[in-house]
Amino acid sequence: MNKELTDKYDVIIGLEIHIQTNTKSKMFCSCPTGYFQKQPNTHVCPVCLGLPGALPVPNKRAIELCILMGLATNCNIANEIYFDRKHYFYPDLPKGYQISQYKDPICSDGYVEISNGQKVAIERIHQEEDVAKSTHHTEGSTGKEYTLVDYNKSSVPLIEIVTKPNITSAKDAKDYATKIRQIARYLNISDADMEKGQMRCEPNISIQEKGKWEYKDGKILPIGEYKLNPKVEVKNIGSITAVEKAIEYEVERMSAELEDGEEIKQQTRGWNAAKGITEFQRYKESADDYRYMPEPDIPVIDISKEDIERIRKEIVELPNEKIKRYMQDWDITEYAADVISSTKESAEYFEKLQKKLSESMNEKDSAKEASNWIMGPLYAIANKQGKEIADIGVNGDDLAKLIVAFKEDVFTKNKAEELLNQSIEKGLNITDEIEKLKSAKESVGSLDNIVKQVIDENTQAVTDYKSGKEASIGFLVGKVMQLTHGTANPNDVRNTLIEELKK
Ligand SMILES: [Zn+2]
Repeated sequence: MNKELTDKYDVIIGLEIHIQTNTKSKMFCSCPTGYFQKQPNTHVCPVCLGLPGALPVPNKRAIELCILMGLATNCNIANEIYFDRKHYFYPDLPKGYQISQYKDPICSDGYVEISNGQKVAIERIHQEEDVAKSTHHTEGSTGKEYTLVDYNKSSVPLIEIVTKPNITSAKDAKDYATKIRQIARYLNISDADMEKGQMRCEPNISIQEKGKWEYKDGKILPIGEYKLNPKVEVKNIGSITAVEKAIEYEVERMSAELEDGEEIKQQTRGWNAAKGITEFQRYKESADDYRYMPEPDIPVIDISKEDIERIRKEIVELPNEKIKRYMQDWDITEYAADVISSTKESAEYFEKLQKKLSESMNEKDSAKEASNWIMGPLYAIANKQGKEIADIGVNGDDLAKLIVAFKEDVFTKNKAEELLNQSIEKGLNITDEIEKLKSAKESVGSLDNIVKQVIDENTQAVTDYKSGKEASIGFLVGKVMQLTHGTANPNDVRNTLIEELKK
């Protein structure tokens, strides 16, 4: 929206996120969950095929992971768990209903703090089961259309995390989704890979005139005679970046419609990533009637305080806490703290490197050095290789030795980075190389002597410098650096040369 429109309208976003949780077996049977690239319809049994008479048995671990997600997002945890049947009729749902939760979700009233400090309110997190996978095909010779259904995905444990409508920009929605994915990954709740469908985001978006609505008890209410604009749901979003893009697109589209005097209709749209647009799918005039009813085949499950405390022990320090600690204790910039803590592996790498470095320097310096090297050379290498920092094959202890040697002026930063690259490209052993350079430095003797030698051997450059061509000092510095195998400090070399040339 342009300035004129952002002054006129507020953006209101709620987000529904589905996450498949990491369990070995499905939600209500013992079929294995890992269906990626497996032969279709090989992970099935009478329960997940919905055959008559088959009885569901809830997966304890799945429920624990749902509770874990709730604890990590500051939710209240129910002490009794009820399941409900949600009816709809699609071939991907063999029972004709999905086992889900309606009135009483396992987790409720939580929040996640996003980067701008806002606490995004979570209304509920409930447990349900995934549906089967349908693929649509056309027969080559006849053009006849048909659908194939793979039930391997049917009944894989799924949690749904629903926010209240209190996200106010596309950027914040993206940030919130990123935080949720980080929590799921840090706690091994899910790999949350959106490309594999392990995490799915469905925003609902509305725009309202400023000053004519209020947010009360988790709801958007009109003020006075104002008629709220309905919300639009967007589906088929395949990445977190696309969450932001799809919302931005919808905000533009809806504000343009309102400005044209048109009425926005409540509808579901699909994100078309190739075109970068949302496309109309269907109007939604009333709430879907799923004819919810209590699931009669699953008795109520009691959750004790002890259960909850036992699950709470699985919580590790999460990105938001790490960011605060890095900034407060070590003066790391917010940007660096955010990048470093974006994955658990990268944060662990950083913390190990910091600890090792702290044996040779003070706490803050060790953290600063670790952060600078990770944000600089290490990320450059990782990006080049298309890998995570923890996977590029640089041992943290070796890197610490390299940083300490550079800080002790054994060699320059350029030389240190060169060594780091060579250790990856040529498999050089960093410790051995440091030792070699240390002894080379000792054997070449004092800097004064090398400087004198270089002056003696390069009379033309010396004459040039003395006649006013100051650039030739660079040539002489280079010669000295060569003789010292890059172990001298270039500034020291330059200063020593200038002093010597004055004589
Ligand atoms: Zn099964």
